[in-house]
Amino acid sequence: MLLQTTDPELAKSLNSELKRQQEGLEMIPSENYVSKYVLEALGSILTNKYSEGFPDQRYYGGNQFIDEIEKLAKERAKKLFGVDHANIQPYSGSPANQAAIFALCNPGDTIMGMHLFYGGHLTHGWKVNFSAKYYRSIQYTTGSDGLLDYDQIETLVKKERPKVLFCGATAYPRLYDYPRLAKIIHEVDGYFIADIAHESGLIAAGVIPSPVGYADIITTTTHKTLRGPRGGMILCNGKPSHPLAPLKKGENPREHLPTLIDRAVFPGLQGGPHNHQTAAIAVTLGEALQPSFKIYAEQILKNAKSLADALIDKGFELVTNGTDNHLMLINTTKKGLTGKEAELALDKAGITVNKNTIPFDERSPYDPSGIRLGTPALTTRGMKEKEMEQIAIWISEVFDHSNDEKVLAHIREQVKATTDQFPIYKEIEY
Ligand SMILES: *Cc1c(COP(=O)(O)O)cnc(C)c1O
Repeated sequence: MLLQTTDPELAKSLNSELKRQQEGLEMIPSENYVSKYVLEALGSILTNKYSEGFPDQRYYGGNQFIDEIEKLAKERAKKLFGVDHANIQPYSGSPANQAAIFALCNPGDTIMGMHLFYGGHLTHGWKVNFSAKYYRSIQYTTGSDGLLDYDQIETLVKKERPKVLFCGATAYPRLYDYPRLAKIIHEVDGYFIADIAHESGLIAAGVIPSPVGYADIITTTTHKTLRGPRGGMILCNGKPSHPLAPLKKGENPREHLPTLIDRAVFPGLQGGPHNHQTAAIAVTLGEALQPSFKIYAEQILKNAKSLADALIDKGFELVTNGTDNHLMLINTTKKGLTGKEAELALDKAGITVNKNTIPFDERSPYDPSGIRLGTPALTTRGMKEKEMEQIAIWISEVFDHSNDEKVLAHIREQVKATTDQFPIYKEIEY
């Protein structure tokens, strides 16, 4: 059953992308390689079914097996993260954040998050995003050292009294002080949302601290370090009441977060859940509950440390001088290239990274001063510290010879020889 036989035009692109994923060094920190079991669930017949609502409370018939699957995914999420409630229906990370805000705020309420150019996410109040169009958005930055400035956050929170304080970022290489952030926002009676989109796999494995017990609501993607299908989850504590019934007058919203979240996802924002995605998330969470996942997460951190150390050795300047998690930011201008130039040259050498602003960037986001790179995908392939050291050498060579096509092509060949030793999806062909 090959797609090639019925749709060769499309199959050609899929096979090219498969080859690209196999032959390159995938260092975009938000990407990963899912298992073939995740792919199997994702490509299953579950995509055929409508099931608006939640398990045992659906608006469509024939959902007895869908209910089993969604219950299993929810139970695994609760167990993995140690929470009372999990909504696994958000279509992705951005809709999960949208639902979390929608659950807590009225239009015009104040929300506060990290500025996009300092590492924050669009959905935490960036000016062109719904989160700043429908809500009043206040943004915090890092200090000049690239680290979160908790005193600045505290001062802003006291002044602006936001209803919601977000933490979490797409390009922050350090850990968060969850207890401090919780204390800051709870003093003005606001809610603390920890968006762990990037780190959720590391948190699930227990290799970095968890916001559980501090954050009122936790949002995440399922496709970054958690290594699942594209998707989102919202987690919280509290006794789940009837998810489809609104709160009664006088009920304290803080005591009904599970209900508010569920109602925000459906019927607030979404229609039918993507059941094939739900099943693939169940597979992912089952994998993350295995002891081997903790070893994987530990290796992500070891690889990131070893790559960061090797790059610093080669004279690269890293934002905050290193990393505590799976990613790092290089100030490429210190090595004579803009972020865009570095991305392009590395791409020619078979190394995929993305250009990124760095704190207090003086350049534009289209051609910023840095690149962002991470180790989750390479670690899934089985690469270890030894490979990280070699990659740092290649990256350094690319910077020294960024205009020399011959050198870049030669590195690309060496990259391919290495990735051949760490195969992925051997049995797949379209
Ligand atoms: C990736 C990310 C998201 C959004 O996820 P999508 O699935 O791309 O919508 C949200 N928040 C943070 C911090 C992220 O890194």
